[in-house]
Amino acid sequence: AEESMIQSEKLSVIGELSAGIIHEIRNPLTSIKGFLQLMQSSEQINMDYIDIVMREIEQIENITGELLYFTKPKCEHFAPVDLGIIVQETVRLFETQALQHNIKLKLDTEASTHFINGEKTQLKQVFVNLVKNAFEASPDGSTITISLSTTDQGEDVFIQDTGSGMPKHVFNNLGKSFTTTKVTGTGLGLMVTYTIVKNHKGSVSVSSEENKGTTFHLSFPKAVKE
Ligand code: ADP
Ligand code: MG
Repeated sequence: AEESMIQSEKLSVIGELSAGIIHEIRNPLTSIKGFLQLMQSSEQINMDYIDIVMREIEQIENITGELLYFTKPKCEHFAPVDLGIIVQETVRLFETQALQHNIKLKLDTEASTHFINGEKTQLKQVFVNLVKNAFEASPDGSTITISLSTTDQGEDVFIQDTGSGMPKHVFNNLGKSFTTTKVTGTGLGLMVTYTIVKNHKGSVSVSSEENKGTTFHLSFPKAVKE
């Protein structure tokens, strides 16, 4: 019953999204068509146009890539997983980028293990999305801190940056599809993130101050033996 509920929830998300998806994909398609027509009429290959066409195609790839989450039939296999390990693996993925931008990526944890019931690949997606956003908001030389702590209820994770923060109108629409302030953003990352956390019976809260930074606080119930 649980499984089918999650399934129908996904289908309804797709339904609600359809109009938005069509819009977000039609825009780059219109632009691709336009630039190809321009090249066709000038009978010349224009490298700038090719760059634009390439970028628009990448934008469609990004959008469809994030939406795959809602369509893929997944066998959701929830088992005890260690959030500490998942976060460590996530940090590793960003090490090169951190070096390139002189960003200090700190991992704070009190306990040696942080077990919850969950699906590793989905949870990894959550942390990748949040750390990626933190990077995109952070100036060179700043610090991003991820901390894990065990509470009476379960496991808490904080992803804290000292970057741009966000204005009210963005803050109030976080997690709604296509909310983005980035030129090549999809505005789908947090929607996917929130959905995964919810499927794990967890919660997300955010605090953010413009030009000061942002903290995402996730709470998950502790692992119980099935
Ligand atoms: P995208 O990253 O493609 O724009 P997301 O759903 O991941 O889509 O994020 C939506 C928007 O939320 C971002 O465009 C940005 O404006 C804001 N945001 C998310 N995380 C942060 C952060 N750590 N600092 C500042 N703004 C953020
Ligand atoms: Mg993002």
